[in-house]
Amino acid sequence: MTLLDRVWVAAESATGGPSSATLELVSGARGLGKVVELFTWGDEATVASSADVLGGYGVTRVYSVGDIGPALPGPRVASGMAGLIWAGDSPDVVLVGATYDGRDVAGRLSAKLDRPTITNVVGLAEAEGPRLVAEHAIFGGAQSATSQFTGPGPGIFVVRDKTFEARPTEVSGVPVSVVPVEVAELGRTSAAQVVSRHVETQEGPKLDEATVVVSGGRGLGSPERYALVEELAALLHGAPGATRAIVDAGWVAYSHQVGQTGKTVRPTVYIACGISGATQHMVGMKGARHVIAINTDRDAPIFGIADLGVVGDCGVVLPRLIESLRARG
Ligand code: FAD
Repeated sequence: MTLLDRVWVAAESATGGPSSATLELVSGARGLGKVVELFTWGDEATVASSADVLGGYGVTRVYSVGDIGPALPGPRVASGMAGLIWAGDSPDVVLVGATYDGRDVAGRLSAKLDRPTITNVVGLAEAEGPRLVAEHAIFGGAQSATSQFTGPGPGIFVVRDKTFEARPTEVSGVPVSVVPVEVAELGRTSAAQVVSRHVETQEGPKLDEATVVVSGGRGLGSPERYALVEELAALLHGAPGATRAIVDAGWVAYSHQVGQTGKTVRPTVYIACGISGATQHMVGMKGARHVIAINTDRDAPIFGIADLGVVGDCGVVLPRLIESLRARG
């Protein structure tokens, strides 16, 4: 396989080191290019300690746009990337995560370089050229397409989380160089500032990192029944998830949403309670190793991807399941 020469990755914001989304992207990038370089921000000490971690994931150079204070990272990261490209650098590919910050970087870079972006990417493979072929969702997730860039300039791909698995390299102790990057005049489009941050309190594992996810849908019948989903998730040391239907209905916070416009999960076990199995939901959980579905309608689409299906009422099945798990201690 012909590897690309250079892959650039935009970091995702995280406190206390590189986020899992960043580690996934650089791990994926390592399989695509000979050299993986990351763009990030922060004070010198933070960037240096991130660089140490990133070296273990195959990154050889970290470009830093410096301490950005309360500013959003998008304008500075995109400006830093574009500045290097205008000065003659030529990455084959730029990968950003499908998050608020990632989309901000991609949109700004696209405008600066006059290159399109390919968004909602769920798979990347090498093609002739060497170029990358991207598998990505279209028509609201109802269909998937394969696309590739033509012409000069880097391909800008907005990649959904869990497309790659975060894997450290077997080689240890590779030095990572940290290179400060000039940020050009940003203009008025960088005027937005973060005025406050709210860190959501959470018990148990994070939804997108949990090995067991128990999700509830409209079939629960009432917001109060979501407590059953939370209790089952806690008993299984997992995380509770939800469909957009019940998030939109105000039963649970958006941070619980699984699917195309929510989180992508890849647990060992996914338990879908009162969920029909709409394409937009399944796109976020179809990577689960085992799917268990509880639904009163034996023709519900979710049974099409379930390893174990229970045709039954959540209001009856969930309390019994909880009771028997509690009895086991
Ligand atoms: P329903 O489709 O109403 O299904 C409820 C199910 O519960 C039914 O199958 C029913 O048989 C079953 N049921 C009823 N009573 C019981 C009972 N007592 N016990 C057990 N089962 C019972 N959706 C997402 O989830 N995530 C997304 O990120 C997302 N993004 C979207 C993006 C776009 C652009 C669009 C257009 C839609 C998106 N949606 C998303 C919405 C999606 O299309 C569906 O509307 C949604 O997933 C349906 O949620 P649901 O399964 O809870 O509800």
